[in-house]
This record gives sequence, structure tokens and C-alpha cells, in this order.
Amino acid sequence: MNLFSLEARELAAELRRGSLGPVEVTRAFLERIEEKNPALGAFLAVTPERALERAAELESLPPAERGPLHGLPFAWKDNLHLDGEPLTCGSRILEGYRAPYTATALQRLLQAGAVPLGRTNMDEFAMGSSTETSAFGPTRNPWDPSRVPGGSSGGSAAAVAARLVPAALGSDTGGSIRQPAALCGVTGLKPTYGRVSRYGLVAFGSSLDQVGPLARTARDAGLLLSVLAGPDPRDPTTLPGQGPPRPGDPPEDLKGIRVGLVKEHMEQDLDPGVKERVLAALEVMEDLGARVEEVSLPEAEFALPAYYLTAVSEASSNLARFDGIRFGARVDRDGDLGGLYEATRGEKFGLEVKRRILLGTFCLSRGYYEAWYKKALQARALLARALERLFARVDLLAGPTSPRAAFPLEEKLADPVGMYLCDSFTVAANLAGLPALSLPCGFTAGLPVGLQLMGPPLSEERILAAGAAFQSVTTHHQAEPEP
Ligand code: GLN
Repeated sequence: MNLFSLEARELAAELRRGSLGPVEVTRAFLERIEEKNPALGAFLAVTPERALERAAELESLPPAERGPLHGLPFAWKDNLHLDGEPLTCGSRILEGYRAPYTATALQRLLQAGAVPLGRTNMDEFAMGSSTETSAFGPTRNPWDPSRVPGGSSGGSAAAVAARLVPAALGSDTGGSIRQPAALCGVTGLKPTYGRVSRYGLVAFGSSLDQVGPLARTARDAGLLLSVLAGPDPRDPTTLPGQGPPRPGDPPEDLKGIRVGLVKEHMEQDLDPGVKERVLAALEVMEDLGARVEEVSLPEAEFALPAYYLTAVSEASSNLARFDGIRFGARVDRDGDLGGLYEATRGEKFGLEVKRRILLGTFCLSRGYYEAWYKKALQARALLARALERLFARVDLLAGPTSPRAAFPLEEKLADPVGMYLCDSFTVAANLAGLPALSLPCGFTAGLPVGLQLMGPPLSEERILAAGAAFQSVTTHHQAEPEP
């Protein structure tokens, strides 16, 4: 049995059954990380002592007390707090900071028996689509190390793609789980806004942020979601009601499922190889019994500007807390408070973060607020209403996750708008609070392509079932990058 080729669900089943032990599995993955991570830069830090200690505790649990993720190794994006561990958000401004408590999402995985292997690299404060704005250097795409893994959860996506962990956590404000999942050839889910607690996630755009799983298959993402989802008194935006049940066997077909293909997305500047793979994936869905029809979403053109105005505005407010006094780094030259703020923020924030704080502060300023921030709120409402109308006609919307496959490192670093265009198809789900999944649907020029499935609020089960049906008749998700 090749441990590293097992899906999370399969590995968890072996561990629960006792045919594999948490300690041997943890050791095996730690060794693989030690061997492969230096070339990839997927992990910022590995936590071997913590992992082995936890694995040893689990080792002695009687079968009746084993959780659904018993002994399953996982990694988490470095914007989620784990008590006692450093947390950087890919930024120098958090130098020296240690998490004083644990994020609910991490807590739930740990309670279910999962073993924490380490913190993954990310764009600074989750701002980016390539993991290159990290202050600690980029992560490389396991399919082609001269290319980006996508972002901002690029470390988590690369770690899963390279089989360094069977599953990982990411966060998605405008596509940061789905786009790197697409570029690395793995499966990533952004849940409905409020489905998973944000307690302990460092805020970027609070009305957009969601925590979610990256794994190899839709069924694995479903397994993680069944543990992650549910209300949390510490995050008042979490929705009442229980999380989805643990996934069973995938439905064999998609009979009766109506799938909409957004015309405007297919007409936009889209890589021909990506377009071809997505159209082929829709044919597979038709073969499975789905009814695919073209739908029109003229409001799609508002999505990217509305997202960027909203995200930078919320970020400028959220990042005000990093003042050199309360968290992490402090640069104090002349003992003057204003100077301390200026020097700390000036020296420790990276360029993209500064650009966004400046833009966001501008959008929220008196005299500009109506023209920019308020307009974005209005456009967001129009887009959300249009999507609601579409979901009265179709069960799912399908399309490309990203307009193109993984691009070369540095290609878009000096071209912020080019970088922002990576998010053209993913931001609508965040603006409208909807669940969306990216799953592998083939390759173009040797690089993975992602198919995005989006549904109405709380339709994760439907989306994941459709993804699982697709993966039951395709093998794209099984392809492994060269070791
Ligand atoms: N790439 C988008 C941005 O830079 C989305 C980031 C995210 O989802 N965290 O804002």
C-alpha cells in the first residue's frame, strides 16, 4: 500500500480500523515533507514534536473512541491560530507573534483526531493569487517548479498536490482556496459564508472570508467539511443548524440536475486550453445525465471591481490593528508613538499589503465613500440578486475556476491588475456568500485545469455530490506530479 497515494477518506478508514497506526503514518508524512518541501516551499514550518505527541496519544485510543479523522495528518494555512505556535500570515509584521488560542476550524479537526503537521505558505495577509507576496519566499507548483501554485493558499494546495499531506486548510476571500486548487490539480471547497467558523482566522475581508478544505477529491473535502461546519458561539456570523452529514457513496449519475454555463465567463479572455477542458468536463456531466444550458449573467462584469473595492476597504480597517504595539514586530526609533506606527507599518508590511491599505483608506474616506465603497456594495447586491434568480432556473453553475493554468513565477508580480484578473470567476461566490468547489478536469500543456461548481447557499452537499459523481468517471484527480 502506498500511503501517500491514499485519499484522506481511505487513509482515515485504515487508521480507524487499526491496520495503520497514527505514529507510523505521521512519521512517514514528516519524512516525506523533510525530503520534498525544501524544493517546493509549501510549508513555512513543520511541527514534528507536536504531531508525534498527538499521534502517540491517539495510538492508545480504543476503537470506540476514535474520531472520523483519527490519525489523519493535515496542514493549515498560516493565518489560522494554533495555540502556542507562531503565526505569520506570510508577513514580517507578525515576527515574534505566537497564537494565544486555537481557531475553531483547527480545534474541530484536532477533536476529530487529525494530526497537525505544520503551517503552510501564503500570500501576505492572503492578498494575492500566486503565493509570491509571502515575505518568506514563494511556493513552487509541484507540476512545474518554475511556475506559481496560485494563491493565496498556495502552500496548502502545493502540499496536497505533492502528497505531503492528504488534506489541508485554506481560507478563501476571493478565490484563495479554489484558484490554487485549480492550478495545483487538487480539489478545494469554499463553503457558504457562515458555514465554517472564522474564529481564529486572521481577518482580511470580514464579509467575504471563509475557511475551507483542500484535498484530493470532493469526497475528501466533504469528509473535512462534515467536521468543520456548524455554528460557533465565538463567530456570530456562523449559521444555525448542523453541518452536512459525512459523505456516503457518491451518486452514480447526475440525472435531473440542471447545470448553467455562464456565457459571459466563456466569452471573456480565456485560455483556449482551459476552455476546451471545461467544455469537455461539461460533456462528461451531460453523459452522467445533467442538463447543461447556457445562461447569461450580465452582472458578472461588476464582480471583480466590486470585490476589489470591498476587499481593500475591509482590509484597510482590519489591518489597522497591526500597529507595532499589540502584535508581533515593533520598530521604534525615536520614542514617538506616531513614528512607531509609521516605522513599523512602513518597514514590516510588504508592497501589495500597503497598496491595498492605501486604496481601502481612500475608498472609505469622506467624499469618496459614496463614489467607491457604496457603489461596490450596490453592485454586490445586484450581482447577488442576479445569482439568486439564476438558481431558480439551474441547480448549479459550472465554468472555469481560473482563466488560465499556472503561470511562470514573477510573470505577474509587477502587474497587479493582471494578478487581480486571476480572480475573475471566483469572486462572485464570495460577494454572494455562496459555496463553490474547484475540481481537476484535465491538463493543458502539462498543467492542471480546474472546473468550478457553484450553488445556492448551503448547497455544499449537492455540489460535492456532483463533484464526486464527476470524479467517479474521471481520473484527472488521480494524476500525480513527477516525484
Ligand atoms: N486573489 C484575491 C486577492 O488577492 C483573493 C485572495 C483571497 O481569497 N484571500 O484578494
